[in-house]
Amino acid sequence: MSTWRNWSGLETASPREVSAPVDAAAVVAAVTRAAESGRQVKMVGTGHSFTAISAPEDVMLRPERLAGIVEVDRDAMTVTALAGTPLHVLNEQLARLGLSLHNMGDIAEQTLAGATSTGTHGTGGVKASLSAQLCGLELVTGTGEVLRASRTENPDVFAAARIGLGALGVLTSVTFEVEPLGVLEAHEQPLGWAEGLDRYDEFVADNHHVDMYWFPHTDAMQVKTNNRLDLDPAEAEPLSSLRAWLDDDFVANTLFGVVNRIGNLRPATVPRLNRFAGRLLSERRYSDIPHKVFTTPRTVVFKEMEYAVPRDQGLAALREARARIERSPWRISFPVEIRQTPADDITLGTSTGRESMYLAFHVNAQTDHRAYFAAMEEIMVAHGGRPHWGKVHTRTAEQLALSYPRYEEFLALRDRLDPHRVFDNAYLRRVLG
Ligand SMILES: Cc1cc2nc3c(=O)[nH]c(=O)nc-3n(C[C@H](O)[C@H](O)[C@H](O)COP(=O)(O)OP(=O)(O)OC[C@H]3O[C@@H](n4cnc5c(N)ncnc54)[C@H](O)[C@@H]3O)c2cc1C
Repeated sequence: MSTWRNWSGLETASPREVSAPVDAAAVVAAVTRAAESGRQVKMVGTGHSFTAISAPEDVMLRPERLAGIVEVDRDAMTVTALAGTPLHVLNEQLARLGLSLHNMGDIAEQTLAGATSTGTHGTGGVKASLSAQLCGLELVTGTGEVLRASRTENPDVFAAARIGLGALGVLTSVTFEVEPLGVLEAHEQPLGWAEGLDRYDEFVADNHHVDMYWFPHTDAMQVKTNNRLDLDPAEAEPLSSLRAWLDDDFVANTLFGVVNRIGNLRPATVPRLNRFAGRLLSERRYSDIPHKVFTTPRTVVFKEMEYAVPRDQGLAALREARARIERSPWRISFPVEIRQTPADDITLGTSTGRESMYLAFHVNAQTDHRAYFAAMEEIMVAHGGRPHWGKVHTRTAEQLALSYPRYEEFLALRDRLDPHRVFDNAYLRRVLG
């Protein structure tokens, strides 16, 4: 028996059998074998979900041999890649082809299927998530059928399987809409709480992508705006490697890691440490190809909960979150991250049908997150929030059914594509019933 463990170390599982399929036929064989013997199959990504959504309880399919670009269509501006391809590999290969994804989250370690199956998102732009940048996919259903889906082929499957939670089938390839490789200018600036909240709408209106952070127990905020420049990638002005190492590696990872360890040992020092971290923030501007601006490596291991609330509720929810933290005995050393996305039309997309603000709460991997996350979750739910499928939350099927207007449609499709629940695990039983 082998052991599976997710990135944060919060979830583990002991699959009885492990294999790494090379193609759709190998996936069909694995799924059919499992279905015939009444077993469950779970294709995992890189385990970057904080929930047990990818916990393989029986047969685990690993992603590493199902990787690589299979087709580039420059007329349609689409790229098809195998589902287990790591996002950073796709980004690098696209850059060499003079192409890029429109938007993405903070890291690029995840697999394409893993990231899209939970609705991984960044901030701003014209598409709500990586899933919303998909224009096609291929999946193996629980009955071993290979289905292709797009807006014109099996559109009902396409509507749901872009954020399929691993419940509808094993994705074997995904097709993204891409754009010519451009240049983004990043502008990071420290600012105070009052100014950050007062100017939030202005930042969002005036910039392509806005990412904001608030340092608990302080008034310090930081805003990062990213805007497309009309430049050739060769004209970009990236950070020097020394500055990139100092800011993104040493300060954001090494120093932050040390500060976190001190805060863990002596929680009373956290407010002072956060004020110190707030003072370390300085203004900087640089430009680079998109994936180098959007993503940075994260080496300090943490646990995270993130909710999408309707955009017009976001600032009120954030104010309540701050008030609740200030009334509490907790000492929170990680900043709260604030992002927003346009609406999408994906059946269980956290942004389905509504423009959203995302509020993300983190604690160090060693810190007990339960009281903090529970209190934040209560506030987010009161504001109509929907939990990120890959991040810690406690919502159940009955509760989630009320948050998603097309929830029943997803369940009906699941009954059709996976009638014998070959793809089931405890997390799916909790959120889908
Ligand atoms: C440090 C860090 C930073 C993060 N930053 C962001 C961020 O900026 N924005 C954001 O939205 N999220 C973020 N996340 C969350 C992360 O993007 C998601 O949890 C994502 O799902 C992880 O992808 P993965 O490859 O690790 O998949 P896993 O977590 O291993 O799996 C996720 C789901 O995908 C399913 N799956 C995997 N492969 C297949 C397949 N071939 N077919 C069908 N289903 C499949 C699994 O069964 C499971 O249901 C972050 C997580 C971490 C740890």
